[in-house]
Amino acid sequence: SPLTGTVGDCSVGGAMAFQLRRAGWAGIVFTGRSPKPCGLEVRDGKAGLVDATGLLGRDVPEIRSLLRGRGSVAVTGPAADNGVLFASVMVDGAHAAGRNGLGLSFSRKNLKYVSVTGSGAVTVHDPARLERACEQIYRLMASSPVIMGGFGLRNMGTGALYDLVHARGMMPTANFRRTRFDAAPGMNAPALRKLLGASRSGCAGCRILCKKTGSEGVHVPEFETMSHFSALLENDHLPTVVEANAVCNRTGMDTISAGATLACHAEITGRRLSPREIPALLEDIASGRMPSLAQGSRRYAAAEGMPRASMSVKSLELPAYDPRGAYGMALAYAVSTRGGCHLRAYPISHEILRKPVVTDRMSFSGKARIIKIAEDANAAIDSIGACKFCFFGASLEEYAEALSAVTGIETGAHDLLHAGERIYARERQMNTEFGFGREDDDLPARFFEEPGTSTEWMETPPLPRDGFLEALGRYYRIRGLDEGGRLLSGKAAELGLDGDPGAEDPL
Ligand code: SF4
Repeated sequence: SPLTGTVGDCSVGGAMAFQLRRAGWAGIVFTGRSPKPCGLEVRDGKAGLVDATGLLGRDVPEIRSLLRGRGSVAVTGPAADNGVLFASVMVDGAHAAGRNGLGLSFSRKNLKYVSVTGSGAVTVHDPARLERACEQIYRLMASSPVIMGGFGLRNMGTGALYDLVHARGMMPTANFRRTRFDAAPGMNAPALRKLLGASRSGCAGCRILCKKTGSEGVHVPEFETMSHFSALLENDHLPTVVEANAVCNRTGMDTISAGATLACHAEITGRRLSPREIPALLEDIASGRMPSLAQGSRRYAAAEGMPRASMSVKSLELPAYDPRGAYGMALAYAVSTRGGCHLRAYPISHEILRKPVVTDRMSFSGKARIIKIAEDANAAIDSIGACKFCFFGASLEEYAEALSAVTGIETGAHDLLHAGERIYARERQMNTEFGFGREDDDLPARFFEEPGTSTEWMETPPLPRDGFLEALGRYYRIRGLDEGGRLLSGKAAELGLDGDPGAEDPL
């Protein structure tokens, strides 16, 4: 990742995976760098590089319209052209591969876009078995309130989380200096729906359709974007949230890192950014007029002599769950292999949404093992190309059955977990090679030193440092890491991983 220096990856929606498979390809690997800006165009069995110099500096929608008729497209915008470290890759317009600055990874390879059109059929090993497996998955999804309930993902989109997170006093506000935002009730998903209207949209073939599109074709912001462009910036002007989201999508920038970098800037300059300044600053970052902020909050805060104002882990800005209100999330942020990420383990599932069972969100008890297992499961889910939201209903059992039907290779949930563990362990090894160790598996000091916003009913104290370190140590032991965070040689051998010889196993 250009932003973090760790392994970098994103799972993204849209139709590209469908098109690619129908074109007869399982994946694309890019190595090296093109001598000039280019696009990769795939049409069924044919693939070729074409000159894309004329697309530099253009906005994402303009590039999309110039590429009309070329199927599913993944493009970078001017932010990547101008070296923004948190530049995204936009797939089919509204689906962002946002985290880790993968747009800049494209740019450094002189790759401007990928387009894929597939017209073939996709054959599977056992179609009848796959149909049965899918019916089972659909049945479980249909009975999940988180997915299909009135305030679930299908009806409200990810914005449904806005009220849940605020009600629990864990909404990052004013660059994580507070955890409640007084204006939140007027900035939630129903308020957005009232402002924009909302119809369902989403990824190809999905039955949930969690994305929301406004009546005039405006993309309704997702939860993290809503929260960071409102509470984190103390902005109570809802149209500004919509506009900030639109600027990021149009120019190709990660909304989480963009919002958090602006919040860091606001804290350092001691100002509350006005609704007019927020989109204007985003435009400045994307166009190269604000290079200091284009480096992300960690580098910017360090250059300003206030490194503690960057609320990031391994240089990746934190998402919209304050860890003082969810201790599993605190541990998950700290140990994530791609930096401050909520999706590697997604403990919000059990700490807030009670899936599969509720856990005490203000306790580290049991969290080390839960986080490790969830990381393994999510690594497997990402690698089979499934959407995590389906797992509020179905489980690895049902997906293993579907995978067996597709491939003809008998696979159980345990096999998927094992594959996920291998993926995660290999990522650990790679991060060790890149120079990351235990000191990087930590949170910003603010969370241990300052309380969140308490009310008469609910206290939000600072995170207990001792409890955090104990949970971190336990996580290391369960994951098979030494005290420096390096994969033990015995664990590497057990998982069949070569490359890094591993640390000495004291046992
Ligand atoms: S539920 Fe998942 S697959 Fe469906 S539209 Fe939403 S992100 Fe895409």
